[in-house]
Amino acid sequence: MTNRICDRCGKAIAEGDLRYVAKIQVFAAYDPLKITFEDLLRDHTRDIEQLLERCEGMTEEELMRDVYIDFQFDLCRACQKAYVTAPMPKSAD
Ligand SMILES: [Zn+2]
Repeated sequence: MTNRICDRCGKAIAEGDLRYVAKIQVFAAYDPLKITFEDLLRDHTRDIEQLLERCEGMTEEELMRDVYIDFQFDLCRACQKAYVTAPMPKSAD
């Protein structure tokens, strides 16, 4: 009986076969803020307007994905071995 499909190669993973789960979280990382007295006095209206302009036209989902997204994949044994060998393939760009 098959109840899972490998998300990488598409092969069926039969019940009882070794199966792996890859969980990936991608989130915006922020360095601790250093707020000076001058920062508190500065008018941030333009900064907020620019931020809102960048968000214009984006859906709520796109905005959320911009900050945080997680994935979970089922992997067969062969794909687990391949994945852990090269979890971050070189970008084509
Ligand atoms: Zn596979």
